[in-house]
Order: sequence, then C-alpha cells, then structure tokens
Amino acid sequence: MPLRFNTCPHCNQRIVFRIEAKDINPTRYPAPIYIFHNVQSCGKISTFYVDSLLRVSYKELEKKPGGITTLEINK
Ligand SMILES: [Zn+2]
Repeated sequence: MPLRFNTCPHCNQRIVFRIEAKDINPTRYPAPIYIFHNVQSCGKISTFYVDSLLRVSYKELEKKPGGITTLEINK
C-alpha cells in the first residue's frame, strides 16, 4: 500500500494518504481519485490524478468526474 506525501490544493498543508490499485479505475491514466482533507481547518475534497504506479501527476481543487474512491488523509 503506497504511502503518498503531498499538499492539499485548498489549504497547502502537508497531507499523507495511502492509495491502492483498487482505489482507481484503471481504464485511463492519469486516473482521478478524491482526497478528503478531513481536518477541522480545511474539510475540503480535491481530485488527485495518479499514473499507473499510483504516483500523483497533478491535482485539481474541485471534485472532477471519473473517480471511484474518496480517500481520507492519514492523521
Ligand atoms: Zn486542505
């Protein structure tokens, strides 16, 4: 289960989350996944796009279509 270190595009705080192959739809890459920054100071969802090795390619502020899973960050 790869652990990913990144920043939330809403608040720029450092976030950590675990992602697995089953969390994404593998029919196209980069594949979207929703990241829920579940802390009181943020509480927003963004869309992260990952490649076939589950590495983050880019991210969007909004919840974009095509994702199948919402991941919560590791606290
Ligand atoms: Zn945030």
